[in-house]
Amino acid sequence: MTYLVLDNCIKCKYMDCVEVCPVDCFYEGENMLVIHPDECIDCGVCEPECPAEAIKPDTEPGLDKWLKINTEYAEKWPNIIAKGTPPEDGEKFDGEEGKFEKYFSPEPGEGS
Ligand code: SF4
Ligand code: SF4
Repeated sequence: MTYLVLDNCIKCKYMDCVEVCPVDCFYEGENMLVIHPDECIDCGVCEPECPAEAIKPDTEPGLDKWLKINTEYAEKWPNIIAKGTPPEDGEKFDGEEGKFEKYFSPEPGEGS
């Protein structure tokens, strides 16, 4: 199994998760992060750290789409190991429905 970053990370991108991951398996897109499913050791420490509750284990039903997105973009985006500056308006988007369809960006972030 693995943990996955889901829809609500988009445009919130608080990055509290990267500070606690023992294997540095987060990757940074322009407006969200993903987890590399082959590198995640399923420790679960990142899940309660995410203020947006955007991290879930793949054992929860209905996450096939997110397993694909995390797998694909972990290969394309740069690794991030230190928390950067979160977007100033992140809270405004926290909890909004349909963020993937409205805002997902395939562009890479800066990484660290
Ligand atoms: S803490 Fe949550 S919202 Fe922030 S980058 Fe990590 S997964 Fe995204
Ligand atoms: S579950 Fe553990 S290893 Fe996997 S992304 Fe979260 S902190 Fe990293």
